[in-house]
Amino acid sequence: MNLPAFTFRLPAWVDVFLNHQPAVYSTIEDRMRLVVDLARKNIANESGGPFGAAVFDASGTLITPGVNLVITANCSVLHAEITAMVMAQKILGRYDISDGGRMNFELVSSSEPCAMCFGAIPWSGVRRLVCGARAEDAEAVGFDEGPKPADWVRALTDRGIEVTRDVLRSEAVSVLKDYAAGGGLIYNAGQPLVP
Ligand SMILES: [Zn+2]
Repeated sequence: MNLPAFTFRLPAWVDVFLNHQPAVYSTIEDRMRLVVDLARKNIANESGGPFGAAVFDASGTLITPGVNLVITANCSVLHAEITAMVMAQKILGRYDISDGGRMNFELVSSSEPCAMCFGAIPWSGVRRLVCGARAEDAEAVGFDEGPKPADWVRALTDRGIEVTRDVLRSEAVSVLKDYAAGGGLIYNAGQPLVP
């Protein structure tokens, strides 16, 4: 067998966009505004689904952005949160970005995590999660959030991960609605086999 290597890159427009953005985002709203902008630009550039995320350090300095790349990379796991966490791990050179609990990194996401991203967050070493749109907002336009525990916020906080919800929720929801209204592909896979 000649098995392929797997790599991914964030789209070229991300670099161009960030050249015009600050390096430090002091408020939680500033950080959310960035990831909502990333989600919107991901649609405009046709590079993936309507989701953006980013990892920041405790001072609000951007470590890395992330955008959904599922369709363009043909990879079901490349949700915005995953691309941001994986990129942060690559940049920082460790799989546990908290470095054994010594470092306090924050993941900001334009939507609440799906079942997969919920599972990946504790393994990444992220200490704080900030969300814009709620899961039901993503579901309202047709996205499947998967089998997540009903009390997923408690499940994360029990592991020492602080969760903040509804930051600029209406702005985040408007990106989802615009994507659906524009005929964007709602790419849920994993459906039962057609008989
Ligand atoms: Zn996800």
